[in-house]
Amino acid sequence: MKNEIKKIKKDLSLYLSSIEEDVFLPQNKANHRTTETALSKEEMMRSLEQEVSNCRKCLLGLSRLNAVFGCGDPKASLMFIGEGPGFEEDHTGQPFVGRAGQLLDKIIAAMGLSREKVYIANIVKCHPMIDPENPNLHANDRPPTPAEISMCRGYLERQIDIVEPKAIVTLGNVPTKFMLNETKGISQLRGKNYQVPKGLFSFKCSPLVFPTYHPAALLRNPNLKKDTWADMKSVMSFLGLK
Ligand code: SF4
Repeated sequence: MKNEIKKIKKDLSLYLSSIEEDVFLPQNKANHRTTETALSKEEMMRSLEQEVSNCRKCLLGLSRLNAVFGCGDPKASLMFIGEGPGFEEDHTGQPFVGRAGQLLDKIIAAMGLSREKVYIANIVKCHPMIDPENPNLHANDRPPTPAEISMCRGYLERQIDIVEPKAIVTLGNVPTKFMLNETKGISQLRGKNYQVPKGLFSFKCSPLVFPTYHPAALLRNPNLKKDTWADMKSVMSFLGLK
């Protein structure tokens, strides 16, 4: 009899501890599930790209041929940011693929990297056009308006949050002013690196910003190549690239 009571007590104790475990498990299980279902950077980027491809938040979304989301490694240490897509980009859906883009590829290659090893994106994802009814017209580009930037900037901010780059190269005036909240021009700001001003964004990462000329400016004025290369050498030194 004593033994039976002992066994019942033991079973009861095991039963109670299993209930206790169940009571506390949901949290653990939930945490576990979160880990299991946590999206990878690639998945987060794909999901964001899908969102952008459906976006019509501003008028640029009505005239674009393709949304130009961005490309490269979502885990890259280095990110390049331009202002917005042009003719070639609008037609292909890829950032920096015209003549200026080819020059950017050469700059990236000279740094010992490739398009696949960095991340490239623009502030606005759709082609700002002078005449939005003629997307097949060449020389139909214009800079994005502050209202367009304001509508679209959230996508770039989320891209930066996913990539968590150590360094961001801003290409030209518009992205430099955007990242640093500056009013000075690129020729005054390049040649140094900057912390993102506090309170401007709420990134999880703290990238250093290296402003330089837009590759299109180098095509117009090849004398700017020397300064651009000096800027890239400074990025390489910061990232420990040879
Ligand atoms: S520019 Fe940006 S906000 Fe405007 S429609 Fe395109 S993706 Fe949407």
